[in-house]
Amino acid sequence: MKSFMPPFASREELFQHQLVGLKWTISHAYSGCDFYRKKLDQAGVYPDDINSLDDLKRLPFTTAKDLSNGYPFPLLSVPMSQVVRLHASSGTTGKRKVLCYTKNDIEDWAHFFARCYEMADLTQDDRVQICVGYGVWTAGVAFQSACEKFGALAVPAGPGNLEMQMEFLMDFQSTVMCCTASMGLLLAEEVDRRKLGSKINLKKMIYGSERSSDSMRERIKKLLNLTDMYDIPGMTELYGPGTGLECSEHDGIHYWADYYILEILDPDTLEPVPDGQVGEMVVTTLKKEATPLIRYRTRDLTALKPGPCRCGSILPRHDRILGRSDDMFIVKAVNIYPGQIDNALRGLDDINCEYQVVLNRVEGKDQLLLRVELAEGADQSICDSLAHKVKDVIKTKILVTPDVQIVPCGSLPRSERKTKRIIDNREQ
Ligand code: ZN
Repeated sequence: MKSFMPPFASREELFQHQLVGLKWTISHAYSGCDFYRKKLDQAGVYPDDINSLDDLKRLPFTTAKDLSNGYPFPLLSVPMSQVVRLHASSGTTGKRKVLCYTKNDIEDWAHFFARCYEMADLTQDDRVQICVGYGVWTAGVAFQSACEKFGALAVPAGPGNLEMQMEFLMDFQSTVMCCTASMGLLLAEEVDRRKLGSKINLKKMIYGSERSSDSMRERIKKLLNLTDMYDIPGMTELYGPGTGLECSEHDGIHYWADYYILEILDPDTLEPVPDGQVGEMVVTTLKKEATPLIRYRTRDLTALKPGPCRCGSILPRHDRILGRSDDMFIVKAVNIYPGQIDNALRGLDDINCEYQVVLNRVEGKDQLLLRVELAEGADQSICDSLAHKVKDVIKTKILVTPDVQIVPCGSLPRSERKTKRIIDNREQ
């Protein structure tokens, strides 16, 4: 079978390839895009100045604001006649982000996305049920064209519609499910409730587009009797989903460093943080023609994983996405990212994977109420001691003392898309 992995034998070869891509991107953006040319002129950096990967540091940053300022076709670096498709983000914060793609961009994307299926050890015999959004969003069409390129069977089911998803799982005997983790949980609980486990043939899940905790994935894996699950990252600005994948070692997400350079920077100082430390993901594309990104500040927070992976791949890794710097909330002067709550609850017995944070202000003071579901089958009588345990662990790890409420298993809201877990009732 054809491999979609990069041909490089060593990190040095990869760096060499990155330098070629970086030089190309800067000269392409400089000559093709007024916005970039002005920006580079202002920074006093010209295409000929890029002689090593270190020169990346000299380049100016690009932000989401630059995208909205250039609406509807921001950062366009090729004539419109070369654009063959556009995608838009859902625009949860502010104006929609619209990104253009040339024919080569679409082909590159399908190629490196096919690599995700390869990394998850799929074969041409797999049947991939794609339960993500189709339309102007980047998700559905990307999962599908990469699946076809890889050679597996694509079942373009689309999002939601639990009833139809179950029918397809039984009738088509899908082996792989692509969905959000929230949808995965919903489906897993429904398959369990209806005792359909023996009628389906699902082996793997590729899930993405939101955070998920270890306990959540454990629950999905157990209820659906999966052999493995893989976290897939992606953002509209950087093609869309499929820009990396967890390998079977589950020790971080391999990212496709032959298509983009990833820097992890301190969001305040914009200086690199050491490997293993959390910072903002900043990306520079190496081949993107229609809308290249130069040091684009994604607002996503993660850390680089130091050292080589046990799987042997030379592709570098970053940690799961800890959240967006925009999702951060402040309680009693402490900055908290939702991912930290997942991490803190990790490993506690007798709790289920869903939680909810409710923020209130009472007499001028912040109060954090944490609702956690009791594990299925656990005895009600342990609720008080469990609440104490949760309180202690949050206090120790996050340095804020919450009120804790243990609620029955399955009582917190579930959704097919992204589950809202933070409810902020404080006046702004
Ligand atoms: Zn690996």
